[in-house]
Amino acid sequence: MTSALITTDADVRQSVSRDASGLELIPDAVARPTARVEVLELLREAQRDRTPVTTAGGQTSTTAASLTDSGLLLSLRNVGGIHDIDHTARSVRVGPGELLGPLKRSLAAEGWLLAPDPTSEEDCTVGGAVACNASGARSLRYGAIRSHVRGLTVALMNGDILELRRPSIEKNTVGYAPVHDLVDWFVGSEGTLGVILEAELGLLPLPAWVIGLSIPFPTESDALAFVIAARESNALAPRCLEFLDGGALAIARTAAQDPSWATGAEALIYTELSGGEAEEPPLDAWLELAAAHHAADDDIRVYEGEAALRDARRLRHAVPATMHERAAPHRANGGRRISTDWAVPYARLGEALHVSRQAVASRGLAQPVTFGHAGNGHPHQNFIARDTSELERITDAVSDTLRTVIALGGTVAAEHGIGKIKARWLPLQMSGTQRAMMRAIKHELDPHNLLARGNIL
Ligand SMILES: Cc1cc2nc3c(=O)[nH]c(=O)nc-3n(C[C@H](O)[C@H](O)[C@H](O)COP(=O)(O)OP(=O)(O)OC[C@H]3O[C@@H](n4cnc5c(N)ncnc54)[C@H](O)[C@@H]3O)c2cc1C
Repeated sequence: MTSALITTDADVRQSVSRDASGLELIPDAVARPTARVEVLELLREAQRDRTPVTTAGGQTSTTAASLTDSGLLLSLRNVGGIHDIDHTARSVRVGPGELLGPLKRSLAAEGWLLAPDPTSEEDCTVGGAVACNASGARSLRYGAIRSHVRGLTVALMNGDILELRRPSIEKNTVGYAPVHDLVDWFVGSEGTLGVILEAELGLLPLPAWVIGLSIPFPTESDALAFVIAARESNALAPRCLEFLDGGALAIARTAAQDPSWATGAEALIYTELSGGEAEEPPLDAWLELAAAHHAADDDIRVYEGEAALRDARRLRHAVPATMHERAAPHRANGGRRISTDWAVPYARLGEALHVSRQAVASRGLAQPVTFGHAGNGHPHQNFIARDTSELERITDAVSDTLRTVIALGGTVAAEHGIGKIKARWLPLQMSGTQRAMMRAIKHELDPHNLLARGNIL
């Protein structure tokens, strides 16, 4: 490729060679276009020369989805812009390089809630979040980003542009359902089908109030029984039900600089309630349910107001950040952090965690720190592999757990995608026919298999 937009400078190639997966893959070349027309020019040239292209946004992927060691790394970080807020249709059109966190704040200043809330929102882009079908704690109430995408502008590998909108018809008997709504092809496709140039995202009115509650429990089974009861109650409608096991709680305690907080607890649930002007926060109902599950009353914390809620989330977010730091010294020996992303139906979570701990113990490994979206049956287990041999044994234990997860009706990857690291587990969940259908779609849109090689398939 000869485009002036491309550089092969070693430092630039190195600067895009890592994401949150712990892997390092150095591309042959890098382009950082600033406009849509430049992206199209690059794609056409790459297609002509049969050069593989991997799109990157904020490079926060935990699965090496934004990395490549062959061809062009196409960073869309500089193709941003909030193009239009439509207050009547309640939607916003936005460029792929816009960071989610700042975008959400500027929409909130206009009275709108953009609901998806991946923990990485300060560093991840709209394009990356859509391409991974990102979700977060509040997906318990609002769903993953897929349900907020109203339309997409996508560039195909040959440089053609597709303008895709969700169909608005309520009845349809034409053909096979998987081709009714092409927006769904691209949400979660991890850069393998096209390059997202613009997303139209749905907006909700901001709630009038939000209250956070941290509720410690003496045992993990009390905490998980509380989660099931909260989900099944008609009166309580939590935005999130986040779980911290003993190890995660210890990290949160350190982040809170409060060594005596909930020291008798084995687990903690963080929940958020929200509502409109006319609604009263159902605090008493929550406290009653907590007491019925033996919560440590004296250590329950209530967070009200923007600053307090931000602080509560900071404690929860300290867990993955700390685990990331703990893994860093082991990189030289081939070690890294391994974060699971499996999910099961929420009522089966205790069972899945039990099986997982047995798989870990039987290999003589340290138990992971476990935290995450218990309300969706979706924990993140964080292991630290200190070298390559431990990495292999942990991967083995995770594989065992995933077989149980699938048997319980779960998924191997609920929000971080498959990328390169988890591609080995795809056959556990998808039949040969399903994989062949995905390959057929890929072949139709990218016949030379140039886009995001090695992701998913
Ligand atoms: C600390 C931490 C916490 C996290 N928490 C969450 C969480 O709570 N929920 C969650 O869902 N994920 C989470 N993640 C995973 C990750 O941050 C998200 O998947 C995020 O949405 C990726 O966005 P990105 O801009 O960083 O994309 P990248 O990492 O750059 O890329 C990810 C994938 O998207 C593709 N892509 C990027 N931009 C485009 C585009 N414009 N067009 C087509 N394809 C594109 C890439 O090719 C790649 O396959 C977390 C990661 C970290 C490190």
